Amino acid sequence: MKKVALLGSTGSIGVSTLDVISAFPDKFKVVALAANSNIELVKKQIELFRPEIVSISNHDSASKLRELCPDTRILSGEEGLIEIAATADYDIFLGAMVGFSGLPPTIEAIKRGKRIALANKETLVVAGSIITRLVKQYNAELIPVDSEHSAIFQCLIGEKTEFIRKLVLTASGGPFLNRPKDSFSSITLKEALNHPNWKMGNKITIDSATMMNKGLEIIEAFWLFDLPAEKISAVIHPQSVIHSMVEFCDGSIKAQLSNPDMKLPIQYALAYPDRLNMRFTDTNLPLIQNLSFFEPDFDKFECLKLAFDALQTGGSSPCILNAANEVAVARFLNGEIVFSAIPGIIKKSLDNLPAETNPSLDDIIECDRKTRSFASQIF
Ligand code: NDP
Ligand code: MG
Repeated sequence: MKKVALLGSTGSIGVSTLDVISAFPDKFKVVALAANSNIELVKKQIELFRPEIVSISNHDSASKLRELCPDTRILSGEEGLIEIAATADYDIFLGAMVGFSGLPPTIEAIKRGKRIALANKETLVVAGSIITRLVKQYNAELIPVDSEHSAIFQCLIGEKTEFIRKLVLTASGGPFLNRPKDSFSSITLKEALNHPNWKMGNKITIDSATMMNKGLEIIEAFWLFDLPAEKISAVIHPQSVIHSMVEFCDGSIKAQLSNPDMKLPIQYALAYPDRLNMRFTDTNLPLIQNLSFFEPDFDKFECLKLAFDALQTGGSSPCILNAANEVAVARFLNGEIVFSAIPGIIKKSLDNLPAETNPSLDDIIECDRKTRSFASQIF
């Protein structure tokens, strides 16, 4: 029986993780949950899973939840997340929070040498060099939950790094794959939130529409698989059936396929190196019929190009990219800017803010803060 701490339990990944855990009650047990403010859902999760400890980042929501669930230990604020990561009795830390806020608790979990099942890609984007160094130092285990990285992780089992020619991350292309760029300024929130293949949280859904999501994933892959940036590529594959591929020096390409359902990579990250019977989805290839591939259009999807450039520049550039993107996406979701303004805000932030070559954790935190302040004032 593996004990799981789930941070971000009310989100799309969090809810899918609880579905997987419910399907295997003899294998996994929830010991800790955390969310930001959705206490109605957390209350239901407490009743179903009986965690020992819960953290709610929003202080007012935490106070209300303490009244609703007087028998559960409920922490609050960023300190609460860190306390869970640093002290709760778990085997697996599943990081499913969105954005930079996932970084501090993930570091605490790594320092305890735990298995980190990581969905929160922003953690690796902003602090990949620190995270990978700490994982080695504390003998922790980093297992990707992001479907592309789970696919590559699976394709690499039994293979030697020296034989890898390139990693090929697949991208659906999002809802605007076939929409002309000159109409991007009139894209509505509803259109941008309508992803063709995946049902996800709002932030990552907008990232998929701008294709920044693939850019963040290229950086995530760089840190996870320790390969030169030139060996990491992206291809458009609108069906989202091949989750990613690895091409080897002999020309052989390995791929991992399944219906698009995050419960599979979540289940794999929880059970690895075992495989559990799938109870949620069945991949029927004759029904899928066609798998197609295209080159990504870097002119149309500027965010993808900005992410490749930030990875090449290195240092704290990916942190600037991520913070500016988080701010721009939040501003688009609030109706403050148009969709087509998102890449411009990120580019101006990268052009104007200095990037440290070898940032410490404090430098990263300061870089994130400064970039947020800068990016929230640009039009
Ligand atoms: P959601 O927006 O659906 O969920 C985010 C979760 O994080 C919610 O539980 C939210 O709580 C919680 N949260 C946000 N801020 C804080 C905070 N400050 N303190 C505590 N909890 C917080 O996101 P997704 O589930 O879609 O994505 C989560 C992560 O997984 C992201 O990094 C995303 O890129 C990655 N990912 C997601 C995939 C998907 O299919 N959804 C696929 C691959 C990766 P509350 O509900 O209370 O606001
Ligand atoms: Mg992904």
